[in-house]
Amino acid sequence: MRLSFHGAARSVTGSCHLLEVAGRRILVDCGMIQGSRDLDEENAAEFGFDPHAIDFVVLTHAHLDHCGRLPLLVKRGFRGEIVATAATRNLARLVLLDAAHVQEEDSRRRQRRVWRRGGKGDEEPLYTLLDVFDTLDRFGRKLEYRSPLVLAPGVRVTAFDAGHILGSASVLIEAEAAGAAYQVLFSGDIGNSGRPLLASPSVPEAADIVVMESTYGDRRHRPFAATVEEFYEAITDTFARGGNVIIPTFALERAQELLFVLRQGIEQSRLPPSMMVFLDSPMAIAATEIFRRHPDCYGPSVGELFAKGRDPFGFPGLRFTRETGQSMAINRISGGAIIMAGSGMCTGGRVCHHLRHNLWREEASVIFVGFAASGTLARRIIDGASEVDLFGEPVSVRSRIHTINGFSAHADQQELVDWRGRVGVAGATFLVHGEESAMTALAAKLADSRIEMPRLHEAFPF
Ligand SMILES: [Zn+2]
Repeated sequence: MRLSFHGAARSVTGSCHLLEVAGRRILVDCGMIQGSRDLDEENAAEFGFDPHAIDFVVLTHAHLDHCGRLPLLVKRGFRGEIVATAATRNLARLVLLDAAHVQEEDSRRRQRRVWRRGGKGDEEPLYTLLDVFDTLDRFGRKLEYRSPLVLAPGVRVTAFDAGHILGSASVLIEAEAAGAAYQVLFSGDIGNSGRPLLASPSVPEAADIVVMESTYGDRRHRPFAATVEEFYEAITDTFARGGNVIIPTFALERAQELLFVLRQGIEQSRLPPSMMVFLDSPMAIAATEIFRRHPDCYGPSVGELFAKGRDPFGFPGLRFTRETGQSMAINRISGGAIIMAGSGMCTGGRVCHHLRHNLWREEASVIFVGFAASGTLARRIIDGASEVDLFGEPVSVRSRIHTINGFSAHADQQELVDWRGRVGVAGATFLVHGEESAMTALAAKLADSRIEMPRLHEAFPF
């Protein structure tokens, strides 16, 4: 058996791990490398293995940093089977189609720049929509939680609910080869316990080797109840001042969790029953439709709502705005509305228009509920810029800025330690998907067994 690491090695994006066992090559995730700067070259680099030789891809969840290089893998010769849960498959379809669109737009922009400078040569996108369609054709059997699937003779995979986003899984790969038996557990991304929307992360009883994420290996989160309280207060304060609330929103999971929390706020009379809420993001709207199609994937309280025929993501004042014209009409509203729009880090998208119309208003608020990388507009506003550039014009920042961090979809340090503790004795633990500082802090807490922090393309024979 051999384990090698081709992404998210001492960094948080580009997850891609290769397990070679019983004569098969199984890739776990094939994600995009992401960050504030242009990472086209890194994403276009060699994988570190031959895509033709891969037999299976097991996809843990649909975030771009876990599935985003799948079309490139197919473009470069992968002809095997991709297995994932049904919800992951549906969400990955949405995420990959959007990614191809972005890649094609980016390459056209680069091409125009080349031509303007009198240059020649073609600026190729990383992959196109056609590559995504070829990728979708490679999705084969579906994973169901706690139900083993035989990948090949002597190799089986079992998914456990990771509680991170809809359909997310930790995957246990069990194999028999040359008289030896192996159990390798890949955590995927691990969610928080006790969140309203999803079930808490679950784990198998035992594994020999664990490959686990360490994003927040050095941090503790604020309790969820306190986070929701802070969120409600920011909204009611803004409404009392007569302004709008702008929430730069990530389309997957965060948007749906916020809808659920807003709905709950109305139900508990913490928020006005008739308040206007706009989900102004075609991608988030499409994701919400997928969330509604998987009532089996939730924690008990949401499952109960579905069972009663109620919509956990709906309430009377909620409007989905798909068309550009509908989105522009929102700009005429000067107060009393919540506007959720992408992108989450304000690097583009409809949220920039809403910021132009609200950022200068003292009575308005902007609530940041997710990670903001350095160099992004979100980061500049959070760091206290008094003026920002929007569409080539300066806009002064007079609205109230809130940063609410407790909505994270990732386990914090204690939850990661608990998660590993719940898996039976592991021969070795490989830390991935984290910055070095986070990994080192987590390693110190897990000091009871062999800990490895692999480097990019590093391989470990067993
Ligand atoms: Zn994720």
